[in-house]
Amino acid sequence: MPSEPEGKGHAAGADRRAQALARARAAVAAVVDPEIPILTLEDLGILRGVAHQDGEIIVELTPTYIGCPATFAIRLAVEAALAAAGLPEARVVTQLSPPWSTDAITEVGRRKLKAFGIAPPARAAGPGALFRDAVVACPRCGSTKTSKLSEFGSTACKAQWRCEACREPFDYFKCI
Ligand SMILES: [Zn+2]
Repeated sequence: MPSEPEGKGHAAGADRRAQALARARAAVAAVVDPEIPILTLEDLGILRGVAHQDGEIIVELTPTYIGCPATFAIRLAVEAALAAAGLPEARVVTQLSPPWSTDAITEVGRRKLKAFGIAPPARAAGPGALFRDAVVACPRCGSTKTSKLSEFGSTACKAQWRCEACREPFDYFKCI
């Protein structure tokens, strides 16, 4: 592509593009996870990027759990948010590499999970983390005297645990 001449028109166009990009990023970042509606896509760390590419706005998302039924719902919600922000032409692409892990959940996201009564996933999840039992602190009282009741909680990505100190059951966001 030949380089455009520098000038007022060019600057205004660049400005418009930057504004559209900021609008797209804000719209997508605020979309909430259908299974855990307290978490936004930004909190979950599944929004990989929003960028201009060959005159198009490209939104890159990464799926959380492969085969998680929420993945399709999230994509639809993102497309709806972009359309509502006046950017129906923005394109949503799936980025599989590097794969998402619970380590991508932001500090804000971890605090929200805890406030909601879900124990946030332990850090530095690696291969096999799903098959090990981490030390899980009760999101209510902070006690680590907890035990697993069931591998599956209210959704496939959460396990059901119980606190021995306050006797309350809680969900634990499993590590991957
Ligand atoms: Zn407790």
